[in-house]
Amino acid sequence: MSLISVEEALRRVTAGIRPLAGEDVPIEAAHGRVLASDLVARRDQPPFPASAMDGYALRAAEAGAGARLKVVGVSRAGERFDGILGPGEAVRIFTGAPVPECTDAILIQEDAEVIESEVIVREAPRAGRFIRPAGLDFKAGETQLTAGTRLGPREIALAAAMNFGSLPVRRRPKVAILSTGDELVLPGETPGHDQIVSSNGVALAALAEAAGAQVEDLGIAGDTEAAIAEAAGRAEDADILVVIGGASVGDHDLVKPALERSGMQVDFWRVAMRPGKPLMFGVLGPAKVLGLPGNPVSAIICGIVFLRPLIAALLGASATDKPSMMRLAADLPANGERQEFMRARIVETADGPAVIAATSQDSSLLVTLARSDALIVRAIQASPARAGETVPVFLFSQVLG
Ligand code: AMP
Ligand code: MG
Repeated sequence: MSLISVEEALRRVTAGIRPLAGEDVPIEAAHGRVLASDLVARRDQPPFPASAMDGYALRAAEAGAGARLKVVGVSRAGERFDGILGPGEAVRIFTGAPVPECTDAILIQEDAEVIESEVIVREAPRAGRFIRPAGLDFKAGETQLTAGTRLGPREIALAAAMNFGSLPVRRRPKVAILSTGDELVLPGETPGHDQIVSSNGVALAALAEAAGAQVEDLGIAGDTEAAIAEAAGRAEDADILVVIGGASVGDHDLVKPALERSGMQVDFWRVAMRPGKPLMFGVLGPAKVLGLPGNPVSAIICGIVFLRPLIAALLGASATDKPSMMRLAADLPANGERQEFMRARIVETADGPAVIAATSQDSSLLVTLARSDALIVRAIQASPARAGETVPVFLFSQVLG
């Protein structure tokens, strides 16, 4: 089977996916979830004309410089002034408080002098200034958040202000993660002479959770088809099964045959990318299966490039990761037959921030990955790129956030 492009692979991974069912969650638990339907404002905000400053509510026509007005009451946030203002009268008012109906201006306290129960205008206020009209922020009936929006602190604030105590969100995709390899032990265990610590399981779990999934860690399976099939079989109700390692074509690469024996239909298993060529995708019952290469950097990059979009598709998320364009701080060589994702740092230059590729792009180097800020995307057959040119980059702060 020949290599397929990253674009084609991604198209196949997300083809025909319908978003998972919706469920209601308390707004306190909605952070990171994706809206399943539009949210229509249930009220005006502010619900009444409100003062934007501390000062005095009065009639602009009566408040020329030097005018004296009698302060006859108070309007504070939570308790409005209910009375009627007579001529030459004003009301003490605080930020957020309802502006009395018969007034049209706020004399801010910095422009006022107070003598006993009177206020003297130092600088004449303008009608309407420092008054937020009802519905300035949003009005009842307006659709202010749409299905597919991921709920961060800002969206949660808006939904709360619209008076939603619970929110309709997509069910979180269940992602089962299986690491494979006789050489692996779990983090914190005591490795034998020829063993290494499995970093991919926890890394991909963190990546999937950040993308909005719920993770079941299936642990480590040894390098036999039976062990892999048995462990994968425990992922019964998973929407996505991620199997790490054993994905290339060597004696110990058993994932594909093991899962095929369990009924997996393979879609593709080789992608023209570096790192990450031995990337497998298939379907096993209701689950999508992603077989990721074992090298730690490859596994994480394939997680960014394929697992995140797959999770986003199941969530019906409207925003997907898009590379940004950044200037190169140093030249890059021409690229070959595979799309490359180069670990890179962002550096400050005289012309502003720019990216510089790490010296070694070895896919086993976790230190380089941890110290990088971005992945530079190099197209197949890209010509050499010069310092100062712009290139597409995925910022880790976005794609792992
Ligand atoms: P494989 O794809 O199984 O041939 O693995 C390629 C390389 O990645 C080998 O050096 C493995 O030891 C390493 N590797 C595989 N799985 C993991 C894992 N879960 N954590 C860290 N390294 C791994
Ligand atoms: Mg292996």
